[in-house]
Amino acid sequence: MSATELADRIDALLPQTQCRQCGFDGCRPYAQAITGGEADINRCPPGDDAGIQALAALLGRPAKPLDTSRGQPGPLKVAVIDERHCIGCTLCIQACPVDAIVGANKRMHTVLPDWCTGCDLCVAPCPVDCIAMVPVAPPRAWTRQDADTARRRHRARAERLEDERLQREARLAARAPAPAAAACAQAAAPAAEARKRAAIENALARARERRQRVRP
Ligand code: SF4
Ligand code: SF4
Ligand code: SF4
Repeated sequence: MSATELADRIDALLPQTQCRQCGFDGCRPYAQAITGGEADINRCPPGDDAGIQALAALLGRPAKPLDTSRGQPGPLKVAVIDERHCIGCTLCIQACPVDAIVGANKRMHTVLPDWCTGCDLCVAPCPVDCIAMVPVAPPRAWTRQDADTARRRHRARAERLEDERLQREARLAARAPAPAAAACAQAAAPAAEARKRAAIENALARARERRQRVRP
């Protein structure tokens, strides 16, 4: 079996929440690290003991306890945005590995609960702390079908981001300024950055004010 085939088979056993608790940039990179002998099989909290046993059986190795320094298994959760406080900064959209958040710049954002893997990655970037992880109700287990769907969405997102990057590069190449114009643009960059920072500060201040007003 080639290394790619083995990584495919390992990846097929991983939960695909793309939560990065294993210390890798998603399930596929972890599968590749196991294949290359760079990572042990017990670093995936969402997979828990059943996942470790499946990996051990595939690789013909003894199972071992979950490395709890990577995190603890827990009930399936879903992200919920308190839309009253959202300032529409889009940072959560950029963090979500499966495109489970919809919204636009300066507009309220919301989570598609059926798409959310519970990975938690959108919580930390939110500058106004308006995203909470809540247990799925009624409680249910994360299934293999959920994992396969999440893998497809994660890949579709990666392909979309790559397309967008290539289009951006092509646009920039088409508009490449003459050297003198480029020097002007470089000189203007700090001012543009300062304006952007000020806009974010203003938005945060407005959000803080709103929060103060709605507090009982
Ligand atoms: S589910 Fe999370 S911890 Fe498990 S392999 Fe995927 S990214 Fe790593
Ligand atoms: S909405 Fe948040 S918790 Fe849900 S998949 Fe996206 S980043 Fe993860
Ligand atoms: S990170 Fe927070 S404030 Fe920014 S768009 Fe997402 S929910 Fe709204």
